[in-house]
Amino acid sequence: MKKPKELILTAGPSISKKEIRYVDDAVKNGWNLHMFDYKEKLEKKFSKYIGAKYAMGTSGATGAMQLALAALKIKPGDEVILPDLCFYAASDVVIHMGAKPVFVDILPETWCIDPQKVKGAITKKTKAIMPVYMYGNLCEMDEIRRLANKYDLYVVEDAAPALGSKYKNKKPGTVGEFGAYSFQGAKIAISGIGGMLVTSNKKLFERAIILNNHGQDPNRKFFQIEFGYSFHMSNLQASLALAQLERIEEFVLKKNAIFTRYKKNLSGLEGITMNFDQPYARSNKWMSSIVLNRKIRKFSITRDKLIAELRKEMVDSRPFFYPVSMFPMYKEADTPVAHEIALNGINLPSGVNLTIEQVDYISSILVKLLG
Ligand SMILES: *Cc1c(COP(=O)(O)O)cnc(C)c1O
Repeated sequence: MKKPKELILTAGPSISKKEIRYVDDAVKNGWNLHMFDYKEKLEKKFSKYIGAKYAMGTSGATGAMQLALAALKIKPGDEVILPDLCFYAASDVVIHMGAKPVFVDILPETWCIDPQKVKGAITKKTKAIMPVYMYGNLCEMDEIRRLANKYDLYVVEDAAPALGSKYKNKKPGTVGEFGAYSFQGAKIAISGIGGMLVTSNKKLFERAIILNNHGQDPNRKFFQIEFGYSFHMSNLQASLALAQLERIEEFVLKKNAIFTRYKKNLSGLEGITMNFDQPYARSNKWMSSIVLNRKIRKFSITRDKLIAELRKEMVDSRPFFYPVSMFPMYKEADTPVAHEIALNGINLPSGVNLTIEQVDYISSILVKLLG
């Protein structure tokens, strides 16, 4: 393949006739008595797919996590343990409860929270652990759950990008008290903006519903019994998300095919680490990614220069998220693995519309730049 005229993007949705049919139906008929038809259908199908008893469509994963922490009554003075490598949505919701995010290191293979480091960070003030499924990778959830049970802590899973991933026989979001998913436009399944809160705890779910209805008394219209939120998903968004959910296995297969091809193409590059596969897990490979492992090899190119050079060849890419504790509002955490990986990682184009020919082209550019 020659250098393309248009930038090859990191993400982008697949919209089939099904999506158009559902959205068309929702916009024509999804009003009045039918105003929640698609939303209810989506929630039912989602909870069944995930293996959680309850699901609630939300404005996004961020709103879902906020509701989760509010339902769990996280309050000022509490501490919540998070991986330093995460998207700041997870740390912000802790801050908004007046609680303190405590950042710990990640595992070099999974890029997810290190259970040993969690253990070391537990204090009398710790109330919850928030594992984050980086780029669809799998956290060591058995370990996290064991610790949570032992120290009587809640678990809220940021599973935003992990739809379709599987840990042993469980889906992300079902190990904790709550899980949060995202349908934001760059995710594996999209509704433009949108998300999902899942739980199998009836009491907590009922509380989340009240909180998301402005804290209104469920038995007394317009009577507020506590301060609440309004993080809703619309029926229109749900119609698009439903069509996407029905195609999730297709997307997971496609993302995995893209990853396998990159992995094969880049296997000769020394010092490059890619997404890790635990034998007992299936990652949705939301973002095929590479990390420049500077311990193994001295690279002559910086991560940011690599991104710039790729762009000259019409290949878009994203830097990994920063370690959140690096931001000026925090005291920088001692998390060498998170720092190393965050500052040397990039997400490669991984959209479900990507062709194998494009993957080969991108790989050839990477080999040229890093070979
Ligand atoms: C995308 C993403 C989010 C944010 O999801 P929204 O639906 O936009 O709120 C949070 N955490 C992680 C790890 C993500 O990848």
